[in-house]
Amino acid sequence: MEIDATEPEVHDLTDPSVGALLDRVGDPRAEPGVRHLSPSSASAYSQCARRWKFRYLDRLPDPPGPAALAGTFAHRVLELLLQEDPQHRTKDRAKELARQAWPETAEDDDFIALALDDTAAREFRWKGWQAIEGLWHLEDPTTVDVVATEQRVDTMIGGVPFRGIVDRVDLEDGRATITDYKSGRAPTMRYREARLAQVLLYAAAIAEESGALPAKAKLLYLGQKVVETDVDPESVEAVTNDLATTWANVQSDCASGEFEPTTGPLCAWCPYAEQCPEGMAEVRRRHKAGRVRLDSPVVVKLLAATA
Ligand code: SF4
Repeated sequence: MEIDATEPEVHDLTDPSVGALLDRVGDPRAEPGVRHLSPSSASAYSQCARRWKFRYLDRLPDPPGPAALAGTFAHRVLELLLQEDPQHRTKDRAKELARQAWPETAEDDDFIALALDDTAAREFRWKGWQAIEGLWHLEDPTTVDVVATEQRVDTMIGGVPFRGIVDRVDLEDGRATITDYKSGRAPTMRYREARLAQVLLYAAAIAEESGALPAKAKLLYLGQKVVETDVDPESVEAVTNDLATTWANVQSDCASGEFEPTTGPLCAWCPYAEQCPEGMAEVRRRHKAGRVRLDSPVVVKLLAATA
């Protein structure tokens, strides 16, 4: 079976830092209408306007899977850890915090809905811990000069109402660094710039709110690698222009009611495929050509329906 080369990007849609976690303020279920963009919603629109409509306009559910929820758990523990005094940011302390934070996850409706058996629940906790411990592969947290964690931003960027939550703002050599945790797979070179756009947007928002441009923007792919870039007026202007274009397109689509589908390998993982004829046709075509994973949720349903 041929696996499409773009398949790894599918998993990033489950990353809490491009989904539930960083989009909490911009959660479309929180308030009616499309009043702002977040990095998650802007990225979702760029991937497929039709999918964006289902999620952000129609507010159809898109429940997170185990990988996303384990990432959310890891984010929470790291948030608590980095709020500790530097000398206390140890793995032992992280384990204590994980134990303290666990009930939040265990009692979460999305986690309960997964209905994991004991083995799967153990594997879930192990994955969460691996992500937490993955921080030490990337940095020594006792040396990080943390200015803020989970900092909300709510501002206008390039004429676009923008909201989000920044995982961490650090100080390096007296200047701010925007840091974001990622528990999904680190991007290949092809997708590096697109991923960095998210933290550059946060840098633009922090600059708008504080009047000072951060020096650096970093993505910490836990247990894997750091993907970072310098922040300068040109890079901020580029992501701001893209955001303004996305906003204009969103407004135009909302006015016309036409949201173009962007079919491709992601359709096999799309929670709205059954409401999207073009997407279902794409999944069928790929299945026939042996170019889709048989364990992707849409294919599993498709095969069950035809069994
Ligand atoms: S099935 Fe594909 S084209 Fe349709 S909404 Fe989902 S991602 Fe977009």
